[in-house]
Amino acid sequence: MNQHDYNKKALHTPFAVGDPHGAISMPVYNSVAFEYESAEAMELAFTGKTAGHVYSRISNPTVGYFEEKVKAITGAHSVTALNSGMAAISNALFAIVKSGTSVVTTRHLFGNTYSLLTSTLNDFGVETRFCDLTNPAAVEAAIDDTTAALFLEIISNPQMEVADLLVLAEIAHRKGVPVVADTTLIPFCAFRAGDWGIDIEVVSSTKYISGGATSMGGLILDYGRFDWSKSQRLARLAGEQGNNAFTFKLKKEIHRNLGAYMPAQAASMQILGLETMDLRYRRASGTATELAHRLEKTEGVTCVTYGGLPGNPFYEISKKQFGDHPGAMLTFDLASQEACFRWMNQLKVIHRATNLFDNKTLAIHPYTTIYGNYSAEAKAAMHVYDTTIRLSVGLEEADELMHDIQQALQA
Ligand SMILES: *Cc1c(COP(=O)(O)O)cnc(C)c1O
Repeated sequence: MNQHDYNKKALHTPFAVGDPHGAISMPVYNSVAFEYESAEAMELAFTGKTAGHVYSRISNPTVGYFEEKVKAITGAHSVTALNSGMAAISNALFAIVKSGTSVVTTRHLFGNTYSLLTSTLNDFGVETRFCDLTNPAAVEAAIDDTTAALFLEIISNPQMEVADLLVLAEIAHRKGVPVVADTTLIPFCAFRAGDWGIDIEVVSSTKYISGGATSMGGLILDYGRFDWSKSQRLARLAGEQGNNAFTFKLKKEIHRNLGAYMPAQAASMQILGLETMDLRYRRASGTATELAHRLEKTEGVTCVTYGGLPGNPFYEISKKQFGDHPGAMLTFDLASQEACFRWMNQLKVIHRATNLFDNKTLAIHPYTTIYGNYSAEAKAAMHVYDTTIRLSVGLEEADELMHDIQQALQA
């Protein structure tokens, strides 16, 4: 999406209903319930025959506006806002899988997504099949009649593997399987999932969108293009709902039953976050690119992993899919775990914290934290190493960050 279109939609998407006071920022509707002037009007609203909010676990004017804005920006068929990225991922999967089906994916997954698939869903009879997503033949071989979804992250974290989306989508669609993709690492202003064969997009809006780590949130976007008559779970519904089957199942059943809708306060902050995201993203991604180049020349750093580096194996595909802004996260390696800990303990500007895409730069040692409860064998299988530092680059000056990195290496 070009910058102009993004900013126009992010700043000027109109309200569905005009504000009685002429407010130009969407008010926070801190109301659980909404009143109707008659029993008849109430019946129409509850049965979905008229638009209108009835109860804030199901929909809310502030959250609804956030969803409308995301819809205008992305061109999605439907958008649903949940209270975290994990709520988005679990709600999306609960609408697609059932006992006896399988999900084809990679071991290069966000830690809780890995646990959701291998433990939570596995206990309900859903099989998870791991394969190497950089090997199309292996992906094709892993998909069979039981497969309910191909699940992937557009850039895996912390491995920084970039999925070749058009290649993977072609395989999945030929086999009648939807592509469900976690796009958290590259925001809407730099990447349009609908153009790359993604059917269902899931995002942790806690990250770039929230506007500096202000609030938790997640989004499910349905591009409305998948033929759900090919889905074991949704085929019957596709008979009456067509390409809307997923959205119908999600909005009318799954998200209401699981009860993880976004609160109005969070939506209010995230609406504002969208307005400044392009500006923040360009700045942070540009600084990350500069740091990646400078880290490559830094003594003591044995390896820098970032799709924006010409030497990176994913450089070309990263440029094709994400353009000149391949993200504000990078990893680099030091000689040992001890060297990583020594470095982290000397930091003066960069924060020792998890999370991604705060306005402040954050460093973490994934091996001992995010993956701390996994066995050494499991971590080896996930390609998570004890020599790796993950850096989420914020809005500070590149020179200030580089100075902090260097002083901590030398101390
Ligand atoms: C943070 C993150 C999640 C989970 O999001 P929460 O908002 O913390 O629930 C999922 N996927 C990726 C890639 C993430 O970075």
